[in-house]
Amino acid sequence: MRILVLGSGAREHAIILALRSEEVSHAIYAAPGNAGIARDAHVVELDANDPAAVTGFANTEAIDLVVIGPEAPLVAGVADALRERGIPVFGPGRAAAQLEGSKTYAKRIMDAAGVPTGRAVRAHDLAGVEAALDELGAPHVVKADGLAAGKGVIVTSDRAAALAHAEAYLPTGPVLIEEFLAGPEVSLFFLSDGDRVLPLSPAQDFKRLRDGDEGPNTGGMGAYSPLPWLLERFGGEEQFVDQITREVAEPVIRQMDAEGTPFIGLLYAGLILTESGVKVIEFNARFGDPETQVVLPRLVDPLSTLLMAAASGTLEDQPRPAFAGATAVTVVLASEGYPEAPITGRPLTGLDDADEVDGVHVAHAATALRDGRLHATGGRVLNVVALGTTFREARSAAYEALGLIGLEGGQYRTDIAARVVEN
Ligand code: AMP
Repeated sequence: MRILVLGSGAREHAIILALRSEEVSHAIYAAPGNAGIARDAHVVELDANDPAAVTGFANTEAIDLVVIGPEAPLVAGVADALRERGIPVFGPGRAAAQLEGSKTYAKRIMDAAGVPTGRAVRAHDLAGVEAALDELGAPHVVKADGLAAGKGVIVTSDRAAALAHAEAYLPTGPVLIEEFLAGPEVSLFFLSDGDRVLPLSPAQDFKRLRDGDEGPNTGGMGAYSPLPWLLERFGGEEQFVDQITREVAEPVIRQMDAEGTPFIGLLYAGLILTESGVKVIEFNARFGDPETQVVLPRLVDPLSTLLMAAASGTLEDQPRPAFAGATAVTVVLASEGYPEAPITGRPLTGLDDADEVDGVHVAHAATALRDGRLHATGGRVLNVVALGTTFREARSAAYEALGLIGLEGGQYRTDIAARVVEN
């Protein structure tokens, strides 16, 4: 196949690596890409957020399938434009992407579909925020309604901080005050063709910047998969996945289809396993980053076949994807100052040595070559990904590899997958 992947993060690098690992070889193009992606795909000059530019390229280059990584091209209507021209695309149109882009929309769909989620109140001004904080009580959860790259959420017991967060986002639109949900978090991905869904394997990510889940929320600082502790509570991964497919993914996809906004692409369910059952905290309309980096390397079936089946409405003919028993751990290396004000442009060293560690590969995020030398160009710079037969093995390989990488002021968490190793 001739495949175009849009995006420039470690998630897109992971998608490209999965496509490259297939027995059949594909011609893979990427835009805008990064220095790591450039080694594994043909990086092309193309504005990934411009529907006309993407459809033009896809036509000229006879692209068979477009895979959209990040949310920006979805919101810009790139998938709509491709679909109008009959080009298979994995990614929802602008209207369906609201499932991620608008928390209010997502809540409405969940209510209509009977999907369990936390109670939420929408506020347009500070008085409304104060009333909602009183009503729902502490700890407080305040969310910007629109896209905020995972940074629009605050969870705090400090009422003044909750108010200040709301105040910062109110000028741009309403905020949501949500009931606090306690319990472990799980990310579960579903491929959807608008009518049917196929689940992938669950993962857990680490949203806070610092060890022990301290510090601000980020786009994600690490992840691991599978989740052995699902056994105790659900009898196993398969039982858990079946339940969420039935209670969350299928009703949402059905509801969206019934409303005339079918969801074709990756449905990401962010879940909290509360004492009173599994509840949805958010949906995303694309592969999660960094969870993708630990889920796709475990996928046994060819990714291209699955994405093409979703894009062309034939998921029904596909068996449920199979996953290797291997464990996967990823740790994100971020620039100094991330997430508030990352310092960029610093040189990166040691990546080739890191790649040499047994079971390890590096998925690039914000990297670029300047004068032949690798530099960090953004907040989350790269992911070290390690596969092992046990979590202990994968985890120690990941940290050994990280120790070989040089980035002035670089920060990473040292406790990714620590608890799963202990238990
Ligand atoms: P979101 O962007 O909605 O996924 O929120 C980011 C993170 O904030 C989540 O991964 C959770 O760790 C936390 N969070 C969001 N909503 C809640 C909630 N209702 N209760 C507890 N924690 C939450």
